[in-house]
Amino acid sequence: MEEQTDKSAKSTTPKKKAATPGRSIDIYAAQCEKCLKWRKIDTQEEYEEIRSRIQEDPFVCDKKQGMSCRDAGDIDYDSTRTWVIDKPGLPKTPKGFKRSLVLRKDYSKMDAYYITPTGKKLRTRNEIAAFIDANQDYKNAPLGDFNFTVPKVMEDTVPCGVSERSPKPSKEND
Ligand SMILES: [Zn+2]
Repeated sequence: MEEQTDKSAKSTTPKKKAATPGRSIDIYAAQCEKCLKWRKIDTQEEYEEIRSRIQEDPFVCDKKQGMSCRDAGDIDYDSTRTWVIDKPGLPKTPKGFKRSLVLRKDYSKMDAYYITPTGKKLRTRNEIAAFIDANQDYKNAPLGDFNFTVPKVMEDTVPCGVSERSPKPSKEND
């Protein structure tokens, strides 16, 4: 269900199709502090910038060019797609690296990992420390800016029936 978003994809921002359709993030949005409408944010980088400073610098509609609180919201919070809500203030991903989130098949939670500029997948802080240690080119990437805090999967937007699909322990009582 969360894949039916292509109609609004802009051709100016090339979007890479995820290898696991529907289980990675395909739309970024921020909520206006004043009118509570949701605005689409075009790129992950822009989104992370907003997220990292949202406590000091709350998001409002005017931050999107040509937009104000009088305009209709870009996207509604409802169960036509699955929403995950980030913790505010998470650091921006260090330059050259990419942060990826994948939703588990049972929608129970997301998993975070980083992809290095050399294409390596790192899943823990220790792996990141070891990578930076071994690759002095990236020694300026602050270790504290790698963060594995994952967004919360909003249960009321998980498709019906998903949670019941998890295998039940086969007990044979009579
Ligand atoms: Zn607004």
